[in-house]
Amino acid sequence: MATDVAAEIETANDDSAALIRVENLKKYFPIHKGVFSKLVGQVYAVDGISFHIKAGETLGLVGESGCGKSTVGRTVLKLLEPTAGSIHIKGEDITALPPAGMLAYRQQMQMIFQDPFASLNPRMTAGNIVGEPLIIHGIGNATERQDRVAWLFERVGLRPERMFAYAHEFSGGQRQRLGIARALAINPELIICDEPVSALDVSIQAQIINLLMDLQEEFKLSYLFISHDLAVVEHISHRVAVMYLGRIVEMTDKTSLFEEPLHPYTEALLYAVPIAKSGARNRTRQIVEGDVPSPINPPSGCHFHTRCPYAVARCRTEEPKLREVKPGHLTACHIHDRKVTLPLAPPEA
Ligand code: SF4
Repeated sequence: MATDVAAEIETANDDSAALIRVENLKKYFPIHKGVFSKLVGQVYAVDGISFHIKAGETLGLVGESGCGKSTVGRTVLKLLEPTAGSIHIKGEDITALPPAGMLAYRQQMQMIFQDPFASLNPRMTAGNIVGEPLIIHGIGNATERQDRVAWLFERVGLRPERMFAYAHEFSGGQRQRLGIARALAINPELIICDEPVSALDVSIQAQIINLLMDLQEEFKLSYLFISHDLAVVEHISHRVAVMYLGRIVEMTDKTSLFEEPLHPYTEALLYAVPIAKSGARNRTRQIVEGDVPSPINPPSGCHFHTRCPYAVARCRTEEPKLREVKPGHLTACHIHDRKVTLPLAPPEA
């Protein structure tokens, strides 16, 4: 089944030029209990997802808190070991590489974290924080590293004289600029941005997003942009993948997603945010009730069936595959197995 899904995704999205390709990736966290640490269950954080990102492209990964999107970012970077599936960088399979073998690939893949304060060492100067990756990867001598750090400060909109200040002396937005400078230090090709603006004021969010977009154009960077904020994702992404309880339920270019969402969960997400130009807002309003179920014991069949206004008996027993419904537009919903469009309103109770 996993191979079928991967094949469908490849048909829908030409990934021949992919910088990174992820297939059927799973990350489960075991739950142990008692003095003998007996295995009593698992958290199905990421449950078989596939995607690719091309050079210079931004894939937005969106979903509610707890859907597994941050775990995807950490697993792709191998900060967490995958339970199953594969990760290819420029065609090279890095899934089983030991930490020592990952060093060269870490140079190509960096991460920007949600909380810029927590991710910066308070005992190091800002210059040493930004320059640390250069030391880890053995790049340049002391003078060259200092010159590069000064250039990076300027490039992200910070005065180089502030190299000698500590993280607590910077504002939230400036700290995120430091995080971006550190991520850029060793010329990566892919940056995983994990909720990089959600801890910032709205006015500062726009500055950081614009900076990321400028840097992408200048350095041909690829981004996996993880966020719960659809408005931000719409602004920065070329394609968007929507996650629900560890699975991707819809993936397409951003225009199709925001103007013609196909999955009931995507529709519900779009109705909850003020995105004026979203075509979904012209459709009958749907409210998805209830909380996201626990990833320890996810619902059978379609994970969304406990909250879906269109659910039928089949949804409770059979997992819908992510398949191409329109050119380049994939969704995982039994309604679209029959190649019909969603009704404009939920069926009468
Ligand atoms: Fe709703 Fe069924 Fe589609 Fe899942 S498969 S989203 S429950 S209609």
